Amino acid sequence: MDTKIIKIDEENIDEALISKAGKIIKNGGLVAFPTETVYGLGGDALNPSSSKKIYAAKGRPSDNPLIVHIADIEDMQYITESVTMPAKALADAFWPGPLTMILKKSDKVPYETTGGLDTVAVRMPVHKTAAAFIRAAGGYVAAPSANLSGKPSPTNAKYVIEDMDGRIDMIIDGGDAGIGLESTIVDLTSDIPMLLRPGYITLEQLKKVLGSVDVDKTILDGDCKERPKAPGMKYRHYAPKGDLTIVDGDMEAVVNRINELVREAQARGKKTCIIATDENAGRYDTSYIKSVGSRDDEETIAHRLYTILRECDDEDIEVIYSESFEASGIGQAIMNRLLKAAGHHVYHT
Ligand code: AMP
Ligand code: MG
Repeated sequence: MDTKIIKIDEENIDEALISKAGKIIKNGGLVAFPTETVYGLGGDALNPSSSKKIYAAKGRPSDNPLIVHIADIEDMQYITESVTMPAKALADAFWPGPLTMILKKSDKVPYETTGGLDTVAVRMPVHKTAAAFIRAAGGYVAAPSANLSGKPSPTNAKYVIEDMDGRIDMIIDGGDAGIGLESTIVDLTSDIPMLLRPGYITLEQLKKVLGSVDVDKTILDGDCKERPKAPGMKYRHYAPKGDLTIVDGDMEAVVNRINELVREAQARGKKTCIIATDENAGRYDTSYIKSVGSRDDEETIAHRLYTILRECDDEDIEVIYSESFEASGIGQAIMNRLLKAAGHHVYHT
C-alpha cells in the first residue's frame, strides 16, 4: 500500500488536506494523526471492518480494545449508554485533554472496536489538528497509538513512518507530541471509579473531582497476580529491543551500581547505554548517556522517555540501565511505562 504523508500545522490548519484525511476514514481507510499525548492510528469507530484493519496494521491482539476519539462533548451521548454525573464532571474539568473515560457502550459501537467488551473508552483530544480531523472523519475515530504492537508509542511522525509506512493510507505529520505519554484512563463503570492507566492527568487531580478513586494494583506492581482491568496493560508494551533494567535506591548507591553494571556489560562486549537525569549525568564514567531531563521537571521526563527508548533501538543498544523516578504525580505514569519497558526488571540498591 502506498502511504501518503502530509504535514499539517496545528496553528494554520489546511482544511482541504484535513477533509481529504477525513474522507479516507469515511471510506473505511486508516490515517495516523498527531494528538497532545502520542500519535494515534485512526479508523472509523463505528465501522467494524475499520477496527479490524487497525488491529492488522499494528499486529495487535484483537481483545485489546480501542479508544474512541471525539471532538465535541455532546457526541459522548451517541456512543455511550448514558453520560453519568462523574463523566460530566470529568469532561468539564479535563476535556478537551489527555483523559480517557470508560463507560457502558451504546449499540452504535461495534464489538470489533471494544475488543468484545460492553464498555467503550472515550477521549476528546485538545490537539487542534486531531479535533479538525475527527470532525472531518464523521466524529468518531477509533485510535490506539500508531506504533507496531510492543514498540514504544510514537511521539513524532518519524517513528510513525518507521512503523506504519506501507501499512496504512495516510500519515499526518504534526511535529512533536507535547506530552509524550498515553492518556490517563479511568473506569467509571464500577461503584468507585478506578484508575486503569496513569498519565498526565494525575490520580490527585481525579480525586479532586471524583472524591475517592481506586487504583488498579497492577499499575506499579510487577508481582501482582491479578489481571489488569485495561486489557492492553497486560501485554509487554513500550519495549526497546535492548535489555532494560531499572536501578532503584539512594542516589549515591544508584550511580555507583550503574557504573559497576555498565563496566561489566562493556567487558562482555555489549553496546550499553544509561538513562540518567541532568543532576547525575556527569557522574557516570562512560559516554553512552541519555539524559531525560531534570528530576524536578517531570513534564520533560515524560516528553523525552519514549524518544530515548526509540533512540536506543536506532543505535542498536543491547543493554540499558535507567535511574528510577518518584512514583507520584506524573511520576506514577513515568514509572508505570518504564517498569513495563523493563519487564519489571529492577535492582534495588
Ligand atoms: P492505546 O491507545 O494503544 O494505548 O490502547 C488503549 C488502551 O485503552 C489499552 O490499554 C486498552 O486496554 C484500554 N481500553 C480501551 N477500551 C477499554 C475498555 N472498554 N475497558 C478497559 N480498558 C480499555
Ligand atoms: Mg498503545
